[in-house]
Amino acid sequence: MQLPPGVSSADFSAAIHQIEGAVGKDWVFTSDGDVDLYRDAYTPFWHEEDEKIPSAAVAPATVEEVQMVVKIANNYKIPLWPVSTGKNLGYGGTSPALSGTVILDLKRMNRVLEVSDTNHYALVEPGVSYFDLYRYIQENKLKVWIDPPDPGWGSLVGNTLERGGGRTPMHEHFATQCGMEVVLANGQLLRTGMGALPGSKTWQQYKYGFGPYVDGIFSQSNLGVVTKMGVWLMPEPEAYRACMVMVPKHDDLVPLVDTLAYLRNSQIVQGICSLGSPLLFYRASQGGGILDAPGDPSIAEMERIGREKGLAYWSTDLRFYGPAKVIDAQWEHAKERFSSIPGVRFQETASYTFPLTPDQQAKVNVLPEIGIPSMSIFGILNRTGHGHIGFSPIIPMTGEAVFEAWKVFGQAYVDLGVKPPEQVFAFPTTYFARCFVFLFLFTVTQDVETNRRTRAVFKGLVRVAAEHGWGDYRTHVAFMSDVMNVYSYNNHALLRLHETIKDALDPNGILSPGKSGIWPKSMRKAST
Ligand SMILES: Cc1cc2nc3c(=O)[nH]c(=O)nc-3n(C[C@H](O)[C@H](O)[C@H](O)COP(=O)(O)OP(=O)(O)OC[C@H]3O[C@@H](n4cnc5c(N)ncnc54)[C@H](O)[C@@H]3O)c2cc1C
Repeated sequence: MQLPPGVSSADFSAAIHQIEGAVGKDWVFTSDGDVDLYRDAYTPFWHEEDEKIPSAAVAPATVEEVQMVVKIANNYKIPLWPVSTGKNLGYGGTSPALSGTVILDLKRMNRVLEVSDTNHYALVEPGVSYFDLYRYIQENKLKVWIDPPDPGWGSLVGNTLERGGGRTPMHEHFATQCGMEVVLANGQLLRTGMGALPGSKTWQQYKYGFGPYVDGIFSQSNLGVVTKMGVWLMPEPEAYRACMVMVPKHDDLVPLVDTLAYLRNSQIVQGICSLGSPLLFYRASQGGGILDAPGDPSIAEMERIGREKGLAYWSTDLRFYGPAKVIDAQWEHAKERFSSIPGVRFQETASYTFPLTPDQQAKVNVLPEIGIPSMSIFGILNRTGHGHIGFSPIIPMTGEAVFEAWKVFGQAYVDLGVKPPEQVFAFPTTYFARCFVFLFLFTVTQDVETNRRTRAVFKGLVRVAAEHGWGDYRTHVAFMSDVMNVYSYNNHALLRLHETIKDALDPNGILSPGKSGIWPKSMRKAST
């Protein structure tokens, strides 16, 4: 067993003994076999000593048990890493940033506490998965939609705290959270927003309560254990339509994206949109690449091929949710706006009215787009090797920025000596309001040398992106300090603020040391 740094074997045993007293012996896991289950299944450190391995795991069932565990850990200075359902694959799974950390597994706290289909919200515990909440809603015949990320087995709390996303109009998850209950590092319990008002009637309806708004400091952070969270849901819409807009010329990307930004920011189109290129997909199918490379046909030549084959240079998908008549009007308006681009073409790709029959539902390609959790992404993503890690820089939502990003990342891939991203992964999406995000995936293998190279490339891309003003929105535990390090304005003033808050709220540094590159004072010098 790998003990936490600076903790004696006697103290660790005493703490584990007390934790067993608090939660029951059956819910404290210390055997190698059990602890192995909390290692990162997608680790980029296969067979390397640098893999961060927990010492134990504990699974409390109530808020009071969480408080007791945290207090014991604080007394013995034992680091804890809370996870909700622990499915954070691609970003570290259940593994900590520091070997010897005890995983605080909240999966047993899995009650759906309330769902309102008049005010459209839910209040859930951390162990509630998207499947659990969906099932609850179906069983109770409630007229609300959830917004699942592609794999539905994760939790609303874990995904939201990571600032993850789905595909419906509620796709930006942290924006839909409303009210938290949090256990602080000293075991104290607090509620944010209206939850701070005893007997409040609007905890899940008004986010801000009174005074400074603190919910954000518990996201991607190590300042508290979230034990309840409110989430806004979407009223079940009458209809859904998916459409495609295609433009013929290379330079059409600029007006295409400008119009897309207008329509999104006006909330005329909703849900996520992805750019694509039927023409570049064709080039890739012929053995070429998605990103331009030396020796590729000129733009004029590509446009000629596009004309000949009837292939658009660029495309974007659009989604509409709501009353069918409103969707008709929104789609009509979108077409009017895009019609300023000569040669633009339009296509409707899917249209549903709700509720769907089981037969209709079975034919839906991407269930999360209509609020239904699924696991089919694991088939679509065609998992190779031993999983993946994702580099996700945020860039402006303009065609010029997309061209620049392709040029910069294309060159970076060449300089770093790796194959550029393929097909959809080369294109940005609107996971978040007002910007694009790329998701460049890297395959994890069991070969030490390959993984070392991948990690070096990953760090290289973080650096190159930052040199151009682009930052990652979320990352694997292995790169958290690298990513935080480039958010360095004014001599790392933001990191210093995070550290000041960390030291004030968690002076013993027991909660998730190293999360987001924020280390407790005692470990700071060694790790930064
Ligand atoms: C094929 C594939 C597709 C994916 N698609 C998506 C996608 O579409 N969208 C997306 O967002 N993600 C996606 N992911 C990433 C990931 O699977 C999901 O984000 C997943 O929901 C995260 O797992 P979880 O909900 O179990 O979170 P957890 O693993 O429980 O938590 C994640 C992290 O949040 C913090 N945390 C969790 N709970 C608490 C708590 N109660 N208190 C304090 N801190 C806490 C911890 O730091 C923890 O490590 C994908 C992954 C794969 C492999």
